[in-house]
Amino acid sequence: MKITRVTTAVVEGNFDWTLVRIDSDEGVYGIGESFFAPGLTSIIRALGRLLIGEDPRQVEPLTRKLRLATAPSASGGGAVLHAITGIETALWDLAARDLSVPLYRLFGGAFRNRVRMYADCHAGEALESIDEVLMSRRPSWSRGGVAEDAEAHWDPVERPGVRTPESYARRAQQMADRGFTALKFDIDLPRAPGEDLHARTIPPAQMDRQVELIQAALEAVEGRAEVAFDCHWRYAPHDALRLARRLEGLPVLWLEDPVPPENVAAMAVVAQGTTTPIATGENTYLAQGFTQLIDQRAVDIVAPDLQKAGGLSEARRIAELADRSYLPLAPHNISSPVGTLASAHICAAIPNFIALEWHAAGVPFFDAMLAGGHPIINNGYVELSDAPGLGVELDLEVCRRYARPGEPFFE
Ligand SMILES: [Mg+2]
Repeated sequence: MKITRVTTAVVEGNFDWTLVRIDSDEGVYGIGESFFAPGLTSIIRALGRLLIGEDPRQVEPLTRKLRLATAPSASGGGAVLHAITGIETALWDLAARDLSVPLYRLFGGAFRNRVRMYADCHAGEALESIDEVLMSRRPSWSRGGVAEDAEAHWDPVERPGVRTPESYARRAQQMADRGFTALKFDIDLPRAPGEDLHARTIPPAQMDRQVELIQAALEAVEGRAEVAFDCHWRYAPHDALRLARRLEGLPVLWLEDPVPPENVAAMAVVAQGTTTPIATGENTYLAQGFTQLIDQRAVDIVAPDLQKAGGLSEARRIAELADRSYLPLAPHNISSPVGTLASAHICAAIPNFIALEWHAAGVPFFDAMLAGGHPIINNGYVELSDAPGLGVELDLEVCRRYARPGEPFFE
């Protein structure tokens, strides 16, 4: 069997869902997904040239070849590794389809066939769509919730009705009503007057408001769902620690990315200084990156992004590293049904698992992207079947309808 084509398609969901398809001369194909990045599809096309004529079932050797070929540009992570991750997923899907087995079986079998999902609830109201440099946009399917003026995801603007205790409570109840037993809200607030984004401080009034929002969400779904809160790398260690300590009496599922991700020692100051569980990992790459986080006790709940971190095999290595320190995983996920299912197969195949993210509640065509259109998430769980590979086929007509203008569509 030989690889004949490596192609991409970008679907404009709430993020740029970048799909990778690998075709073989025997008609078997595989699909994967890469976490968005500027210039990503041109990187995938460049790497694809190295795969033409190779046996696609050689998943690990081919992934190692791509890593060697990009060592000067990708050893620490970044867009090239996102590209490799999507390609590797497509190779695994192809290999599993060729054997007519579900993907989780190639990873040692399933600890669970129902994978618990946690619903991302943004800031009580959905930020509908952002592009590859985190600016808000208005795609064709948008219902008008995003302002005309582009807003930067890292420096949000205060809007009426958003980030109120009522909106957090209402959104939490809506998602619990849909069967989700785990939720997550943003807790990095728009800057208060005079607050300097780059100083990374939490003014006292802001911290009071954060605690109020957190309490509102927790109380709204008490006994029905657990709730996590995401700081998006915003704060200095001592301010983050003060917030984490104020939450210690509350049943917070986790506090995510309280400080910027590059400095593991700074993350460790927070994680070791509080009983509030600290989650991080969505900006960490490869088992090597997670070794530092885990060995330096900088994380309680390990949150790799499986469309980014280096591949599905690498994800399993990360889970094994975490398991040696008795730490569970709650993988980050902002992807389409393709990446969501790829992640779900890995989450089924590892023991130390809490919940997998689902970030697409605001995207009306999420389920329609798959042939048959049946929802993959029911009552807060993905049920994995015995169907080969990821277990699904794309509805190409629907995917094309929402494709990003100017990007190739599997051609
Ligand atoms: Mg996050």
